[in-house]
Amino acid sequence: MVKVFRYRVKSLNGLLNRQSRAVNLVWNFCNDTQKFALKWHKRWPSGFDLNKLTTGTSKELALHAGTINAVCEQYARSRTQKKRPLRYRGKKSLGWVPFKGRDLKREGNAFRFHGNTFRVFYSRPLPEGKIKDGSCFAQDARGRWFLNIVLEVADVPARAPVRGVGIDLGLKDFATLSTGQKIANRRYYRVLEAKLGVAQRAHKGRQVTAIHAKIANQRTDFLHKEALKLVRQFDYIAVGNVNASGLAKTHMAKSVLDAGWSSFRNMLRHKAIEHGAWFEEVDESMSTQVCSTCGCTSGPKGVADLGIRDWVCRECGSRHDRDQNSALNILLRSGHRTPVVGIPVL
Ligand SMILES: [Zn+2]
Repeated sequence: MVKVFRYRVKSLNGLLNRQSRAVNLVWNFCNDTQKFALKWHKRWPSGFDLNKLTTGTSKELALHAGTINAVCEQYARSRTQKKRPLRYRGKKSLGWVPFKGRDLKREGNAFRFHGNTFRVFYSRPLPEGKIKDGSCFAQDARGRWFLNIVLEVADVPARAPVRGVGIDLGLKDFATLSTGQKIANRRYYRVLEAKLGVAQRAHKGRQVTAIHAKIANQRTDFLHKEALKLVRQFDYIAVGNVNASGLAKTHMAKSVLDAGWSSFRNMLRHKAIEHGAWFEEVDESMSTQVCSTCGCTSGPKGVADLGIRDWVCRECGSRHDRDQNSALNILLRSGHRTPVVGIPVL
């Protein structure tokens, strides 16, 4: 299993900034090569070809040869995924200096790379394990540098799937569990919104970026914590594959909700693997309409009945909380249901 460890790191008098500009040169060279190949209907150069074309430029660019290789290979991978030429990297691109795993050496709580020692804010110890390719120095929106280390660590054995939970991601509450527990939506903006408005009106660009970053951080932090709690509490987790189209009223809300839901699902997936729990994404169509007790479809219908929070089943008379019923259906549809879970009759 691979895990990413992230440490705050100093740029060493602008060293990383200089290197990331050289990285941009390499990247843009790859892009030019790609465009040239496209224009003359030549075979698209692979990472291997790009490596050959950039051989011997290490000294001139003051980059580690492994960094140049890593850029070429990453370019080729992204290009294959996108199926078209990529964007050029320029002043606005966040700094990025990738390297080969073998080129980073541990030195106590610091790291040695390309003749320099990088002291890091050692926020959590780096366990033993092989440092893999894909590791990099990267800048965040506020211009701070981080060292991301991709590490191969031992697999955690899967737990017996005893305690299960279904999760309904929603608009009113962030999530409702099949146990009836609800995770409230945090209103990140409320506190920082006023500050953001003042900074925006005063055209204080740096402050605006900083506040945006802070909001994003708080949000990720909240999602991480909730995901971790769930993985600790339950052995298997089934989440609905909801997306925001049709639910949210504005495009803005759609993108924000979608981003939140999909990153939460990804966190759950990763944390589940990390902790030996099971994770499953379940088709949740009709999950609000189907009664989780008897299976009839007398529940509230999608967007039209969004206001209905509680309902009584016409067939069997069970009382349902809309979101909990949906979460129960998600759990019922997952493959890992065990008799222990049962179906509570409310
Ligand atoms: Zn029913």
